[in-house]
Amino acid sequence: MTDSKLSTQTNIVTESKSSYGRNMEFLSDSDKNSETITNSFTDSIKTTSERKMSVTNDCTKEELVACLEERDSQKIDELLQSAYKVKAENIGKKVYLRGVIELSNICTKNCYFCGIRQLNSNIDRYELTEEQVIEASRFAWESGYGSLILKAGERCSKRYLNKVTKLIKSIKEISGGMIGITLSLGEQSKESYREWFDAGAHRYLLRIESSNPDLYARIHPKNTHHSWDRRVQAIMDLKDIGFQTGTGVMIGMPYQTTSDLADDLLFMKNIGVHMVGMGPYLKHPDTPMGKLITENQTLDLSLKMVALLRHMMPKINIAATTSMQVIDPFGRERAVLAGANIIMPNITPSVIKSRNKNIEKMPEVKDDASESKSKLENSLARMGIEIGWNEWGDSKAFTQGG
Ligand code: SF4
Repeated sequence: MTDSKLSTQTNIVTESKSSYGRNMEFLSDSDKNSETITNSFTDSIKTTSERKMSVTNDCTKEELVACLEERDSQKIDELLQSAYKVKAENIGKKVYLRGVIELSNICTKNCYFCGIRQLNSNIDRYELTEEQVIEASRFAWESGYGSLILKAGERCSKRYLNKVTKLIKSIKEISGGMIGITLSLGEQSKESYREWFDAGAHRYLLRIESSNPDLYARIHPKNTHHSWDRRVQAIMDLKDIGFQTGTGVMIGMPYQTTSDLADDLLFMKNIGVHMVGMGPYLKHPDTPMGKLITENQTLDLSLKMVALLRHMMPKINIAATTSMQVIDPFGRERAVLAGANIIMPNITPSVIKSRNKNIEKMPEVKDDASESKSKLENSLARMGIEIGWNEWGDSKAFTQGG
């Protein structure tokens, strides 16, 4: 990787080749002089209680921005409750579980926000053995999860691609072809996507992180390896092959505005994804963006994003992401009550999870998969949320269209 600058316009963050690692000097002098770099979206929030919240499945950008900036708690509650109603009417009230298996925390990329970026030396790298993956998959299958997700940093070596193909086939085999497989393995060639689809995977998540190419450029190194256009093309390739295709964005990250978030919602609708996984931006201390002094996230903005998207895309699958649980112990459950219908418990072997610095703050990290399962089950039951055991819970936007 060559020297690069994280910020194009304000020179907020710089990263030089000699300063990677613990001695990084991220803030410019002007930033050091100001106590806090507030996120642009926070600055832009205005009291909007006098405005009428107008939510339909055909919202304009202006209406979306108004809802995202709304601060009247009664109006926000109405938005979340109406989104739950839209969900119940279009796809039912059930929640479907996807057991997440984190195959590896090795990645060839250097996204500025991510704890497993290649240049982070303060991390213990791992790659699960085939046996460990099969054991976790068997747990998911025998626990009635219905589906699992194979997730990892982005790698494209032939050995790695072949290993994934073999794993997909083996997982299908141990479940008699019955367990659903979602992949979240980054940008790959169309041929590799097709090979994995033919092997038995049928859903793929590839987060765009931001639909704004300029913002995307500020949170990634500037080289062809981190290209917004290429990422969008990959999403299109996945759709073309026949995957149920998902994307997602980070909410509340530095430099982001409510206008960006409204555009994110419209982007997801316009490209017609079948699934969305989005959640609050979480600072990671060993990343360039983690060095910025930003305000702590609350769940509210993420809940509004979920609710608005449910109104706009009534039949898609929307995940209540683990990052929501990090900032609120009941974040996932609250997202379900705002229109989400998928929960993704982490079933990576706990001995590995504890080594994965990218997820060390995740509430489930210290639990093994069985403990996590029973905690989640109990908490959903307490809230009267039914689980679709042994069901794939495919996106109705994919199976029925719309
Ligand atoms: S966000 Fe994805 S591609 Fe970027 S560094 Fe992290 S794991 Fe790698």
